[in-house]
Amino acid sequence: MDYGHPLEFGAFITPAAATPEAPVLLAQVAEASGLDLVTFQDHPYQPAFLDTWTLMSFVAARTDSIRIAPNVLNVPLRPPAVVARAAASIDLLSGGRFDLALGAGGFWDAIEAMGGTRLTPGQAVTALEEAIDLIRELWRTDQRGGVFTDGRYHRAHGAKRGPRPAHEVPIHIGAYKPRMLSLTGRKGDGWLPSLGYMQPGDLAKGNAAIDEAAQSVGRDPREIRRLLNVGQLAADPGEFAERLAQLALEDGIGTFILAGDDPNLLQRFGEEVAPAVRDLVAAERGTRGVSSAPARSSAALAARRDGIAYDDVPVGLRAIEPGDFEYGDVRATYMRGGAPGIVLQPASAEQVAEAIGFARRHPELPLSVRSGGHGISGRSTNDGGIVIDLRSLDEIEVLDADRRLVRIGPGARWAQVAAVLGEHGWALTSGDYGGVGVGGLATAGGIGLLAREHGLTIDHLRAAEVVLADGSIVRTDASTHPDLFWAVRGAGANVGVVTAFEFEVDEVGQVGYAQLAFQVDDVAAFLEGYGRIVEASPRDLTLFLLTGGPRPGQPQPGRRQPLEWVVQLYGVVDSDDPDTIIARLQPFAELAPLVQQSVQLTTYAQIMANADLGPQHGAGEPHSRSGLIEHVTPAFAAAAARMLESGAVPFFQLRAVGGAVADVAEDATAYANRSANFSVAALGSHPDRLDAQWRTLAAHVRGSYLSFDSSERPERIAEAFPPATLARLQAIKAAYDPSSVFRDNFAVEPAAPTAPAEADAA
Ligand SMILES: Cc1cc2nc3c(=O)[nH]c(=O)nc-3n(C[C@H](O)[C@H](O)[C@H](O)COP(=O)(O)OP(=O)(O)OC[C@H]3O[C@@H](n4cnc5c(N)ncnc54)[C@H](O)[C@@H]3O)c2cc1C
Repeated sequence: MDYGHPLEFGAFITPAAATPEAPVLLAQVAEASGLDLVTFQDHPYQPAFLDTWTLMSFVAARTDSIRIAPNVLNVPLRPPAVVARAAASIDLLSGGRFDLALGAGGFWDAIEAMGGTRLTPGQAVTALEEAIDLIRELWRTDQRGGVFTDGRYHRAHGAKRGPRPAHEVPIHIGAYKPRMLSLTGRKGDGWLPSLGYMQPGDLAKGNAAIDEAAQSVGRDPREIRRLLNVGQLAADPGEFAERLAQLALEDGIGTFILAGDDPNLLQRFGEEVAPAVRDLVAAERGTRGVSSAPARSSAALAARRDGIAYDDVPVGLRAIEPGDFEYGDVRATYMRGGAPGIVLQPASAEQVAEAIGFARRHPELPLSVRSGGHGISGRSTNDGGIVIDLRSLDEIEVLDADRRLVRIGPGARWAQVAAVLGEHGWALTSGDYGGVGVGGLATAGGIGLLAREHGLTIDHLRAAEVVLADGSIVRTDASTHPDLFWAVRGAGANVGVVTAFEFEVDEVGQVGYAQLAFQVDDVAAFLEGYGRIVEASPRDLTLFLLTGGPRPGQPQPGRRQPLEWVVQLYGVVDSDDPDTIIARLQPFAELAPLVQQSVQLTTYAQIMANADLGPQHGAGEPHSRSGLIEHVTPAFAAAAARMLESGAVPFFQLRAVGGAVADVAEDATAYANRSANFSVAALGSHPDRLDAQWRTLAAHVRGSYLSFDSSERPERIAEAFPPATLARLQAIKAAYDPSSVFRDNFAVEPAAPTAPAEADAA
């Protein structure tokens, strides 16, 4: 029986303590000889041996590419919860080069001598099964809450999950007897016996038992790799290769691990024997028409969602499915939980075009486009649909240092952009959080901490590469596809997928970064004062105001309980002169008592380094409303205070815009509400309560910045785009995306076909 696994070759090295460098050198020889795997026996009671975990960690640090595994780990002396952490740690530290292989134990006198518990063979198998379940559960970091198991031998009472390994660490099992073979078939990723302990025919019998057990739980037997520890079966490399090829073709062995500590033998094994076995097996498999082992497990196949032609994903385009190990890290966004049916991760504009083609062949499914995953509406994930995830397109490249022209991929995050530009003494105004992605923000606006001095992010855009709904890849700038270029700057999500942005960035030196907290009793008066001072301040100041609901203040005899607010102001004074910085901030200090203050002279890159760029595990639905206002009028301030007092808005932001943002003509970009001096955002946990409160504010609010809104109501489109802007956008939509392929995030309806076409699409 040949299971069709790609062949692998490894080394089985004695962890001899007498010559501690020797096993490390042998591992390096194995790597240099082209072997795939280096493994070490684990006998933690054996004083002549180095500790296997310590040795494996050391070897991982001294090698670059070879995979590392125990052969096999002694579970009775290795608490499985600790094994899970250790395995994940070495996998992370080695860049995903760790395989786990477990054994039920043996040598019970020695185990007992070390303080372990003597088990019968049957008990040891049950204990191993419990250990495997516990280890796998602890690796499931996409699940919430701790791990609870009440096994007979291994228990966990709320153990914290993680760390998550760098890759799906396979668990191989050292097995000979029926119960262990059954466990291997049901739960193992590989079977790892030693040929020396087996009689002729044992491999076939073992395979049959494993296959039967696998099938009994709905697994494809080919999911279980067959590994084998072997000695030097023949002195002549050719003959040795033939013996191994026979084991591969007749007994389905996919991984051969050579036991022995002779460097010359290891070298010959890697350089001569392994290639010869590969050739022999490839030739025979070709003749026999052996089918390859499946790329995905039965469990992964069972997790597929309806209506997706998974097998039609273009070759070479990376796809992550619900049953895949990586899925837990790509399903949700920063703000929202999701369960997409497939996540496509293109690595080039051409692959983005292929991904769009795949999406077009599934017109009934939701399509989300994701760059940094920080969309406040959360529409860059979905339920059961397709996500085009642009995280791999994250290059940041200086095109022309004299013009400060840079090309940035949509998957880059603003913290990374700021760090690269900072090396040149430059900055590109973005947002206030370095984790936000370039793609979403730079297609919507970009209201950031340098806004009043340097405008919106989109105001720095000079050209973009866009993949259109029909799959064509176009470059757009002020003179090439000018309508598209206009639309990309404020409504980019409606017209295509931007795969590269070219920005002209600014020289920005050290800046003052202020974080001030005030204790406020009259929040309306504070908002008004903040608005007045911001508008009167020079453009080098951009401040954001943040507050949540009020708290009851100190009780005062005979008076109604007052409310107390903590209001934070944070932002930038674009100056390296401490006196200027203090002068800009001083007027705010007079609004209310300052309870905390921090003002630093720092760089934009350091301010943006505030982000966690790791996987996002948002849950539930975000609820956010956005508006733009010219001035913080007394009526607006009073309405905002009432809204905050309701308790429905635990997060309220009033950001300074204006300044350079208003220098750009209203009709120059699809982001049109240029005269607004402030952006308002309100987040709540109950959509109805939030909306009810927002309505009280609506009379005082003019436009909307869709990047801060999550509402699905069609009115939002008209709020964000004034009539002339919307009409032009609809015409452009009709020209570039007439069938609304891009419709999941604040979709603009294409103009009716009879409408005069204003767009410049070919
Ligand atoms: C913590 C936090 C802080 C924020 N601070 C600011 C801020 O200071 N200023 C500000 O302006 N905004 C800010 N935002 C909002 C943010 O700019 C938007 O939500 C933006 O869309 C996020 O971009 P992303 O690539 O991370 O998001 P994603 O979730 O990846 O994408 C959001 C949407 O953008 C569209 N999109 C994404 N990539 C592309 C692309 N390459 N081509 C075409 N369309 C695309 C899609 O419709 C997608 O649904 C903040 C958001 C969060 C969560």
